[in-house]
Amino acid sequence: MSANAPALSIVVPAYNEQEVLPEFHRRLAGALAEVGLSWEVCYVNDGSRDTTLQVMLGLQAQDSRVAVVNLSRNFGKEIALTAGLDHARGSEAVVVIDADLQDPPEVIPQLIAAWRQGFDVAYAQRNTRQGESWAKKLTAAAFYRVMQHVGGKVDLPPDTGDFRLLSRRAVDALLQLREQHRFMKGLFAWIGFPAIAVRYDRAPRAAGTTKWNYWKLWNFSLEGITSFTGAPLKVGTYAGLLTALGALVYLAQLIVRTVLFGNPVAGYPSLLAAVLFLGGVQMMMLGIIGEYLGRVFNETKGRPLYLIERHIPSGGR
Ligand code: UDP
Ligand code: MG
Repeated sequence: MSANAPALSIVVPAYNEQEVLPEFHRRLAGALAEVGLSWEVCYVNDGSRDTTLQVMLGLQAQDSRVAVVNLSRNFGKEIALTAGLDHARGSEAVVVIDADLQDPPEVIPQLIAAWRQGFDVAYAQRNTRQGESWAKKLTAAAFYRVMQHVGGKVDLPPDTGDFRLLSRRAVDALLQLREQHRFMKGLFAWIGFPAIAVRYDRAPRAAGTTKWNYWKLWNFSLEGITSFTGAPLKVGTYAGLLTALGALVYLAQLIVRTVLFGNPVAGYPSLLAAVLFLGGVQMMMLGIIGEYLGRVFNETKGRPLYLIERHIPSGGR
């Protein structure tokens, strides 16, 4: 890390954000004008299909505080964010923020104030979710509820995205976690360190469209749960135990009935029901084991998390 490194880095992953980036940069620079820290902003282009990279390079030409990391393709937000953290030179703290202005840059001074009180992590917690559908709010709430039950020792704060400030030592701790399946909210929580919530109102997207749909959200939840806890594997143990117990009771009942009343051949439907039920439970459990096995497979390949097409650091070339 060079001697003239800025105190603060802002890491911004962006995928197809050409419309918002200039406005984002303007508002970011405005919000940081008063904080009294030297800063850089590290834009990560996550394989955008539009002119996001050109917009970033344009911003850099105008403002030497801009760093650009261009990934070789789209790797997904979690990895783009990691690439940004890897290249953030901020010697004292790093802020992670979305490019779409749903995380208002005006909250950053509050995060910095919290950090100055001695907290390593200041995470922004949403008050409301304006402009998001009921269904999305409901599924988000359900997800946090589930995570709270299965997460064990690690606490996931609800209504919290990736928008947060991390002290340099918290960033360095986070960067030691190099797993392929990066459920960032889980990783942020795993590192621990003194943390505090800063409340704010989440705005609707300023422009462009969200990259999320329900299939992606479902996969995100799966990722969160399977990369965070082995609890679903226990479902099989208990489902098996319960069905075995049920079968025993059923068998006892059958024996008693046969002894008392003889055995008129019947029970074809119940047989089929039992077979189908057990088959279903077994397939589900194989699926769950498969989810974990697939993740083990991905980790054992030991590939780098991302590849970089171009990196232009901040502070003149
Ligand atoms: N993003 C990214 N790579 C992707 C998808 C999204 O870098 O593959 C960025 C996106 O540009 C934005 C942030 O991640 O800055 C959050 O994305 P989005 O607004 O789509 O998610 P949401 O706010 O709905 O959670
Ligand atoms: Mg968004």
